[in-house]
Amino acid sequence: MDREKYQQLVETFFQWDQSSIIAIVQELLSAAAAEDSQPAMPVMSQNYETAQANPEIHLLPGNLKDARDAIFPYFWGTDSWNSPLHLENVRGPANHASLIGAIACLLKNPNLCTDRYSQRSNELEVKVITALANLIFYHIEDPWGIFTIGGTVSNFYGAKIGIERVLPGAMQKGLCGRRVVGICSDASHYSNRTVAGWLGIGTEQLIEIPTDESLSMRLDVLEQRLDELYSQDAVVAYVVATFGTTDGFGIDDVKGIRSIIESLARRHGKIVPQLHVDAAVGWALTFLTEYEISDNPLSFEPAVLNTVSSIQNACLGLKAADSVTIDFHKMGRGHYPSSAFIVNRREDLRYLSRSVFDTPYFSDADPRRDPALFSLECSRPGLGPYSVMASLNAIGLNGWRMLVARSLELAMRLKSALGKLEYCRVLNDKTSGASVNWWVLAKGRNADQVFEQLVAGELSAEQRARYFAEIRRLFDKRDKMKDPTKDARLGFTTSYGYHPHGISIPAWKAVFFNPMTSDEMVDQIVSSIEDLG
Ligand SMILES: *Cc1c(COP(=O)(O)O)cnc(C)c1O
Repeated sequence: MDREKYQQLVETFFQWDQSSIIAIVQELLSAAAAEDSQPAMPVMSQNYETAQANPEIHLLPGNLKDARDAIFPYFWGTDSWNSPLHLENVRGPANHASLIGAIACLLKNPNLCTDRYSQRSNELEVKVITALANLIFYHIEDPWGIFTIGGTVSNFYGAKIGIERVLPGAMQKGLCGRRVVGICSDASHYSNRTVAGWLGIGTEQLIEIPTDESLSMRLDVLEQRLDELYSQDAVVAYVVATFGTTDGFGIDDVKGIRSIIESLARRHGKIVPQLHVDAAVGWALTFLTEYEISDNPLSFEPAVLNTVSSIQNACLGLKAADSVTIDFHKMGRGHYPSSAFIVNRREDLRYLSRSVFDTPYFSDADPRRDPALFSLECSRPGLGPYSVMASLNAIGLNGWRMLVARSLELAMRLKSALGKLEYCRVLNDKTSGASVNWWVLAKGRNADQVFEQLVAGELSAEQRARYFAEIRRLFDKRDKMKDPTKDARLGFTTSYGYHPHGISIPAWKAVFFNPMTSDEMVDQIVSSIEDLG
């Protein structure tokens, strides 16, 4: 081998050439800033046609600029979620404290599987998880948890603990032909179905309980279904309560669910199923748990202040959960992946544990703390802990409270303006969250009346199809007419989560995760609807 060439290769790609690295980071930063300054810049069109036809790999070793050039077409002109006009979904711009944390992590690249490979990064994970757990469970004794690659996987952990809880040894023996079921609401995230499928209980064994109009699981139906399931000798492994549904921000009554599962399990002589809370979206409301409403130290607007006490009440319900999923990469505006799975009591992780015997190359792993002994993953990125710790402490509790309150304020502003238009109907008026779901019908119609007829079961299938098509058509019309420099990009869902008579209801949707979205932008949404004709 040509040693000189080899040496050059190693120097270029493995030694710290600070000036080259900083120069390229600066170029990328400038490119990102240039994009942000052009809010109406059309995105680059995709080129899937030849994506597979030309999977080239350069022959000769190059330099760091080649690395830049290799990815730049996919970086530039593609995704501008920084734009305050992007309101489609539960995705905002990542905050820059998170960026600093993430960069620090990338420079060290720890592997969170065991202490040996991560050293203080594992310790950081424990610290961050505890900070989050105190926020979520409102100061508890013995929480533990782990960062995962997303809400789906965090929900997976919760469900798996449930199976081991009610069917001890399933990890080794499998389900042994038993009918194992999980329960969630029918406004819950589709990841619950993914999890049921991948766990092997089967998507058909995920029982979806209808919600009421405020997108909250109906406790009367839960009670009745549980009773039936136990009578049929089904093994009920877990119940997933949703804290903030993805479209409409519905919140399940966690305390109420706790009391039902305990009393039904007792009545039928069964082990109480795992109560997992999917708070992927809604967890950030817990920043408000200790906000002093009477002093209102951060001068929240009256409309926001009025909802804080019911939010606090809902947040206190989280104490009743066995485990939670939180996605910091949603309302925490952190970098992907920064989802966390947290258990209320550390001892519950025993349901997932392996022995050192099962993990031969971690023979020195310490079962008291090394995640490799219970995690689904082996190698695990440190981005979550770094991004979250940097974000939590740089922005501070009051900073977070302001960010959350502003999201609520923008959502309320839109709800209240839409509520004044007769042909519009706000669908999630009763939820306190960062998103708005609504209908726009043709002018002249009374949207509230149509909705009430729908709920009362007075609309025929054809009438429904006509109204639903009208809602979609008007959405598409606005989309075509919109001025990208001032009209927000809105989302559309084919089912916002409430299913009266089993009917899926479509809705327009706006999510206020971007702190740069202004009052004027909200008002402009309403004007653009009024202009639809
Ligand atoms: C987004 C979301 C998930 C899935 O989380 P990912 O991080 O995208 O995997 C699960 N549950 C809810 C309620 C969500 O909104």
